[in-house]
Amino acid sequence: MKKYDFIIAGGGMAGLSLAYYLSLSSLRDRSILILDKETKHRNDRTWCFWEDQEGPFESILFRKWDTVEFFGTTFNGMLDMGAYQYKMLRGIDFYTFMKNHLAQFPSIEFRQVTVNRVKDTPQGGFVIADDEPYIADYVFDSTHLLKLNRPENHNLWQHFKGWTITAEKPCFDADKPCMMDFRVDQHGDCRFLYVLPFDDRTALVEYTIFNDRLLSDEQYENALLGYIDRFIDTGSYAVQETEFGIIPMSDEPTTERPGKHVIRIGTAGGYTKPSTGYTFQRTQRYLREIVQNLAANGKPKRSKPWLRRVFKRFLDSVLLNVLQHRRHPADDVFTRLYQRNPPAQIFRFLDEDTTFAEDLKIMTTVPLGAFTVAAFDVIRKRVFRV
Ligand SMILES: Cc1cc2nc3c(=O)[nH]c(=O)nc-3n(C[C@H](O)[C@H](O)[C@H](O)COP(=O)(O)OP(=O)(O)OC[C@H]3O[C@@H](n4cnc5c(N)ncnc54)[C@H](O)[C@@H]3O)c2cc1C
Repeated sequence: MKKYDFIIAGGGMAGLSLAYYLSLSSLRDRSILILDKETKHRNDRTWCFWEDQEGPFESILFRKWDTVEFFGTTFNGMLDMGAYQYKMLRGIDFYTFMKNHLAQFPSIEFRQVTVNRVKDTPQGGFVIADDEPYIADYVFDSTHLLKLNRPENHNLWQHFKGWTITAEKPCFDADKPCMMDFRVDQHGDCRFLYVLPFDDRTALVEYTIFNDRLLSDEQYENALLGYIDRFIDTGSYAVQETEFGIIPMSDEPTTERPGKHVIRIGTAGGYTKPSTGYTFQRTQRYLREIVQNLAANGKPKRSKPWLRRVFKRFLDSVLLNVLQHRRHPADDVFTRLYQRNPPAQIFRFLDEDTTFAEDLKIMTTVPLGAFTVAAFDVIRKRVFRV
């Protein structure tokens, strides 16, 4: 059996990004096998993220904007994003770009197979896919399914359904995406829409919920129908594409390194920011670190400043606790954050780039009673594990 240098189980966002960064590094000639059950020919998702400089995918961005709109409880308006831009990348453009780029490297192979098992062995990372065995020095696994169920943690979901619609009348301003619109019934949890315009007649309109219960298809669709009817003067419209997704919003620790030769990446590696569900940029950042360390000293590790990470994780848990126990209306929490702080500072905060002092300052702008109770509850859960 051929031994690869690296096997990447799951050639989605994280797997392809990892192969991409390896191909740009001194490890570009190493043998890499990418296994995925799909061909990735569908536009199965759209990623949005913010960035304060040009990023690696600048040439394939579908849209980018200098400002975003926000509709909250006590504040509506455009957010001043400073140096940040809000960027939109379509799944299909990402997959096509990656495939074209990676095809230039003869040492990178693709196989369309279903991964049945990933295991650490003394000889290396071992994979069984469609009954065939494969082995490598390291296996990077993004196919592992998370099981999140410990009572001492907060396990919510971000779930959403979106339609790309084309309207009869010009009704969108292509320069004005709406990042969060809370003008919908909150049903006691956290619900908002976002609208990403492609031009004056076409936009992705998405209904998003943070809670622990999925809805029926009909419920998502009724919310979309109601919102479009109430807030967008479309005339008639046609739905061109549908997107549905579920992202874990959880502070349950994930096992990133189940064995010496196996490393979980992407959602499977716990790369999702628990309090927002944003995963794309964190994955890029973490994978660049892994490749840098692998190239420098042969160790596929992320640098983890321990204290900083624990504190950021604690802040995530506190927000999740507020949401899960409905300690304060979520629409008001997000409104206060964006109204009482420079939005660019909130983006830095969510990227975990703010200092301890900056974090504390931001914490003074949220409903203090609710967050204090939540903070003590998080500590109680950690200590007593219930
Ligand atoms: C619809 C949608 C929209 C999202 N939008 C955003 C966003 O705007 N911003 C953001 O930051 N995050 C967003 N996310 C969250 C996150 O960025 C994406 O889920 C991202 O694709 C996660 O990357 P990944 O590599 O971990 O998983 P995936 O991209 O899903 O890749 C996993 C790959 O593994 C393959 N696979 C799985 N099981 C097997 C198996 N047994 N055998 C073989 N192959 C297998 C799959 O086919 C897939 O290609 C979104 C998620 C969804 C679902």
